[in-house]
Order: sequence, then C-alpha cells, then structure tokens
Amino acid sequence: MQDRELYRQLLGLKEPWEVTEVKIDFKELKVDIWVTWPPEKQVPCPECGKKYMIYDHREERQWRHLDTMQFQTMLHCRIPRIACTEHGVKSIDVPWAERNSRFTALFERLAIDVLLGCQNQTKAMELLNLSWDEVHNIQDKAVQRGLSRRSDGELKYIGVDEKSFLKGHQYATVVSDLNNPRVIDVAKDRKEESLSEVLNNIPDEQRAGISAVAMDMWEPYMKAVRALLPETDIVHDKFHISKYLCEAVDKVRKAENKGLMKEGIEDLKGTRYLWLTNPNNWTDGQKGLFKELKNKRLKVGRAWTLKEMFSDLWEYTYEKAARNFFKKWYWWATHSRLKPITDVGKILKRHLDNILTYLKHRITNAVSEGLNSKIQQIKSAARGFRNFENYRIAILFYCGKLDMYPHKSQ
Ligand SMILES: [Zn+2]
Repeated sequence: MQDRELYRQLLGLKEPWEVTEVKIDFKELKVDIWVTWPPEKQVPCPECGKKYMIYDHREERQWRHLDTMQFQTMLHCRIPRIACTEHGVKSIDVPWAERNSRFTALFERLAIDVLLGCQNQTKAMELLNLSWDEVHNIQDKAVQRGLSRRSDGELKYIGVDEKSFLKGHQYATVVSDLNNPRVIDVAKDRKEESLSEVLNNIPDEQRAGISAVAMDMWEPYMKAVRALLPETDIVHDKFHISKYLCEAVDKVRKAENKGLMKEGIEDLKGTRYLWLTNPNNWTDGQKGLFKELKNKRLKVGRAWTLKEMFSDLWEYTYEKAARNFFKKWYWWATHSRLKPITDVGKILKRHLDNILTYLKHRITNAVSEGLNSKIQQIKSAARGFRNFENYRIAILFYCGKLDMYPHKSQ
C-alpha cells in the first residue's frame, strides 16, 4: 500500500530503511508503524563504521513519535545487531532516536518546546499525554545534553544566592551569570561545599576569567571563593545590605510603637510600610504622614534617616572617599542608641572591604533575584519537587539558556 512509502517519507527515513507495516486503529486513535532494515543489506558498526551483514535482532522496541493528526503514533522496530570483529556484537544506531530513548528525536523536540512554552509541567503532561516520569525523563535528558554542550563563553561576573525549597525545609545554592542572565548551576544546601562544587565544575579557563562574585555576607560562600578563586573580588550585594537595614528600622519601629501604645499614643500605628518603602515611591498620603511624624523626634525617624544615609555610599567613585563617608556613618550609627542599627553597623564594618568592591565592579545580585522570581514561578507551577535533583533539573531547564534539543532530527 502507498501509506508505507508515505510514512517512510514523513519519518524522513533514508534508504534502505523501510516501513514494512502501518496499522491504523480508528477506535483508539492510534497509528503503529513498523520499520525494518532489509536483511540483505549490510549495516555499519556504530563504533568503527565497518560494514557487516546483520548478525541478529533485538526484541521489538517502540518509540513514541509526533502524532499523525489526532492519532498517537508509535514507531516499532527490532533493531539489528552486527558482530564486529573488533567491537563485538553491537546494536546499530537508529536515525530516529537517541540511544535508550523511548521517544523519537522529533517527539522530544516537541516535548521540550511544549514544556518551555507553557512553563508548567502539569499542563505539558496533559497536552502531550505523558506521565510525570516521562516528562521528567525528557527534561532530565534535555538538561544533560545542554550541560554537555555548554560552550566556554566568558564568565566575568557571577552571583550566588540561596534559595529555599521543599516548603522551606531545605536550601539550595543558585549560581548565576550576571552579564548573560542565566543559571550556571544549582547545588544542594548553602554550605561552603555547595558553592565549591559548582565552582569546581566550571572549566578552568572560564573560571580564571571571573573577576567578581556578588553575594550576601554569608561566610561559607566567602570561604569557597577565597579558597577556589583567590584572585576574585567578593562584592556584597547592596540589596541584601539594604534588607538588613530595613529590618533594623522595622525592629526599632516595633519596639517604639509598643512603648507608645502603652502610653496610649498611636502615632506609629499602621506606619510600617512608610518606613520600608523607598521615599521615591511614597504616595501623597505617605508623604503627608512623614511630614507629620518628622518633627516628633521619634527613634524610628532616626533609624530611617541612618538607613537612607547609608545608600549614599553606592554613589561614590573613589574608595578612599567612600571609606571616609563610612567612618562618619558608622560613628552616627553606633552613637544612635538604636541597638538594631548599631548591630547592623558592626556587621557592615566587618565586611567593609568586600562592600567597597562594589565601586570597582558595580554589580548586584539583582539579576539573580530576577532569576529567583522565575524559579519561584517554576516551583509553584510544578507539583512540588520530590527531591533536590528534580528541582535542579527544572531550574536548569527553564533558566539555564541551554541548547537542549536532540540533534538527530530525522
Ligand atoms: Zn566495529
């Protein structure tokens, strides 16, 4: 019948592969196609290419292929084996799929596109009519392919961030490329070894080109960088620093509000967001409120001023001038009689050298924070990650900018 030749062409199978049987099941909406290598033709050894007659056949296997219209389409074949004088008995390579795959290369391409397109594994499962394990398997192979092909482009600035998963019970270390926003890799935990593992996997030449790493003031990460990248600057991320200062302001407000409420004074009631919002983003109401509170000599007002003052540091160009500025700020902070502010001031002083490196590199973790929100999306769209490896694979699949398609395209 004509349909055998039609299917051979649709599958892009080159001679002498032939389609020997096509069965269409109109009830189950299924097409089954049997593909055969003619017994009288010689086959190349997959190792050396030397040609042999077929030695025997393996058990029949099947691969899911792209659907034919609404018909789920399966390819069947008993893969021939040859007996190479040098390499022994070997299954030959088939042009439609990678070794050990249950899907044809074209189907895997489609599945990758669908997964990327709907950014939602559950939805992709439904669209492709695949199980969770099958989707995960396709994703996993796609990421392995991508990682093995990743080229050694320049890696100048990287960011390290921790991320919680499994309902916040566990941590992961996410390392990203700040210039070309993508996740380089994800490691278990937030220990020194976590970051070391990722850094060790970066090819030497690329690693030598890293000039700075943006991170929070987190000792284990600092240790890993000092040990493995001794020439590389550590830049403590200004957004993390700002977060600590905001938390300190909030602590001052809470304590002060509690005291005032005891005396029946409600000045600070409901003002939490005023102190945490960037003044440039204040609403008219907040501006008015601030004006009112400004003259009341509140502790939170002083704490807030110190927090705002600190951000001037990022505007400096020269390290020496910035150091002088910090000295002054530190004096104010430690003489403010506001313990939360003094505490943060001391932490900042201890890390000052790696804060001032910002002036040289001007990098922040903002890029990795952007990736973090993407990771958050992935997490909420997935049915929860049963283990760390699944989590890592999903992040790399969506945020790794990897070349993940199987290259066999027949
Ligand atoms: Zn051989």
